[in-house]
Amino acid sequence: MSLLRVEHLKKYYPAPSPLFGPKRVVRALDDVSFELDAGETLGLVGESGCGKSTLARQLIRLEEPTSGKIYLDGIDLGSLRGRELRRMRGSFQMIFQDPYASLNPRMSVFSALEEALKLHTKLNEQERADRIAELLKQVGLKPEHARRYPHQFSGGQRQRIGIARALAVQPRFIVADEPVSALDVSVQAQIVNLLQDIQKDTGVAFLFIAHDLAVVEHISHRIMVMYLGRLAETGPAHELCTYPAHPYTRALLSSVPTTWSEKKTERIILTGDVPSPLKPPSGCRFHPRCPYCREICRQEDPVLRSIGGDPKHLCACHFPAETGRKAGKD
Ligand code: SF4
Repeated sequence: MSLLRVEHLKKYYPAPSPLFGPKRVVRALDDVSFELDAGETLGLVGESGCGKSTLARQLIRLEEPTSGKIYLDGIDLGSLRGRELRRMRGSFQMIFQDPYASLNPRMSVFSALEEALKLHTKLNEQERADRIAELLKQVGLKPEHARRYPHQFSGGQRQRIGIARALAVQPRFIVADEPVSALDVSVQAQIVNLLQDIQKDTGVAFLFIAHDLAVVEHISHRIMVMYLGRLAETGPAHELCTYPAHPYTRALLSSVPTTWSEKKTERIILTGDVPSPLKPPSGCRFHPRCPYCREICRQEDPVLRSIGGDPKHLCACHFPAETGRKAGKD
């Protein structure tokens, strides 16, 4: 059984509507389903506004989805209330892009970590102090750093503190929302390596959100590509980055040094902005920006289907063989 199972998740936000006009909604997340195993890293990529952060907020229960189900260890999170939900919250944590914004500047590292331990564990004072020293070592800091405050650390060190806080309650699943995009390239590699080491030691699963496909290819076992609130393509990381099937995935891969772009001379340049989720385009949502668009693309919404007989590689495109895998192999 998968650790996390997401079924037909939707999140619509009410939008200002014209007087006497129909009610309008922003379809930030529109029917997304996927699974995540223990010890697995699932990368999530897409441009800003594609629904990545909305998905993250639903997964850690910061918001209530409009419809759809989220199961953790087979338990429907939407059915939990009060104490049950609080107990379950320890199982899923979040690492933020800007650890400085998520750390209270007036709280020492010790207090920030102890707060999480008090909330989610029954450890006594001495056990909490021991656990904090252990956590700091686990993320490459020293126990004596516990007495310092967030402003006394570099960006990379602050991200390590954010990771320590997420790990404090021994979660099964962590949403890492752009955890390295605010850091220097050399520090990015250190944090990515740290996350990989932590996963080996603890078996925690990650949903790793980023706009940089090169980083995502490196860290992920599988990747999901989102466009305008929907999954455009999903598959094993190496397969998807070597034989991208969806034109949008290929455009994203074209713009960064990845397995695919290093082999190809072809470049797909994305033109225009992501359309408004208030009024998504008819048919395929990517059609106004797709260089391979045909008439059917404007009429019919493509569903996710298997590519090249691989049940794990799925793509929502009417012409994936011509526009993706076949072209990638030629
Ligand atoms: Fe492009 Fe058509 Fe595929 Fe959409 S369905 S990505 S418009 S080829």
